[in-house]
Amino acid sequence: MTTTIALITGANKGIGLATARQLGARGMTVLVGARDAARGREAERTLRDGGADARFVPLDVTDEASVAAAAKLVEHEYGHLDVLVNNAGIVRADGAGLPSATTLATLREVYETNVFGVVAVTNALLPLLRKAPAARIVNVSSEVGSIAVMTEPQGALFALTSVPYPSSKAALNMITAMYAKELRDTPIKVNAANPGYCATDLNHHSGFRTPEEGAEVSVHLATLPADGPSGLLWGFQMDAGG
Ligand code: NDP
Repeated sequence: MTTTIALITGANKGIGLATARQLGARGMTVLVGARDAARGREAERTLRDGGADARFVPLDVTDEASVAAAAKLVEHEYGHLDVLVNNAGIVRADGAGLPSATTLATLREVYETNVFGVVAVTNALLPLLRKAPAARIVNVSSEVGSIAVMTEPQGALFALTSVPYPSSKAALNMITAMYAKELRDTPIKVNAANPGYCATDLNHHSGFRTPEEGAEVSVHLATLPADGPSGLLWGFQMDAGG
C-alpha cells in the first residue's frame, strides 16, 4: 500500500500544527510546510516525538521560488500528493481596521498570504495532486469570509472592524468554489474549512475553541469519501470569529 502524503502550509504552530498531528495520527506522511527553518524543524521534532511520520518542508507561500522548490521536493521524494491543506494565514489591520483607514500596503500584505499564496501553492502542487488516486484540497478560510454572514445585522459590526482579513477570506471562498468547478470531473475535491474561533497566536489566544478542535474541520475535509462534497465552506458555526 502506498503512503498517503499530506502537505500542510503554516504547519509549525496553531491550527496547522494540530492538523499535521491529526493527519499524522491517521497514518499519513505529513509534510510540515513552514517559512522559518528553526520553527519548522521544531514542529517536525514535536510531531515525530508524538509518533507521526513528519518532515519539515521549507515553504513561504508568498515566495515564488520557495513554492517552486517545495513542489519540486514533493515531486522528487514522493511523486504525488494526496492532501494539500492551505492553512497559512495572517491578520493585519491599520489602526482600527476601518475601510477608510486601510492602506493598500496592508491589503496587499494580507492578500499575498491569504489569497495569492493559496493560488500559487495550489497551482504548483496541482500536477502532483492529479497523480494521486483521490486528492483533497482544503483551504482554511473563515465564516467572516461569508458575505451572507457578514451582512447580517450582527455580522456587520465585525465586518467593519477589519477590511483586509475578512475580504481575503471572501476571495478565498470564491477561489475555492472556482477550483472545485474546474476539477469537478476529476476525483479531486476542493473545500474551504471554517475552523471556528480558536485560541492561537493569530488572535492573541482570544478564541474559545482549541487549535485541535479547529483542525478537526480541516481533517474532515482532507479525508472526505468519494461521494463527499466539493466547493463548500464547511465547518463550525459561530457568532464572530478569527
Ligand atoms: P497562527 O498565527 O497560529 O498560525 C499561522 C501559521 O501560518 C503559522 O505557522 C505561520 O508561520 C504561517 N504563515 C504565515 N505567513 C506565512 C507564509 N508567508 N508562508 C508560510 N507560512 C506562513 O494562526 P492560526 O493557526 O489561527 O491560523 C491558521 C489558519 O486558520 C489561517 O488561515 C487563519 O486565517 C485560519 N483561521 C483561524 C481562526 C482562528 O480563530 N484562529 C478562525 C478562522 C480561520 P510563522 O510561525 O512563521 O509566522
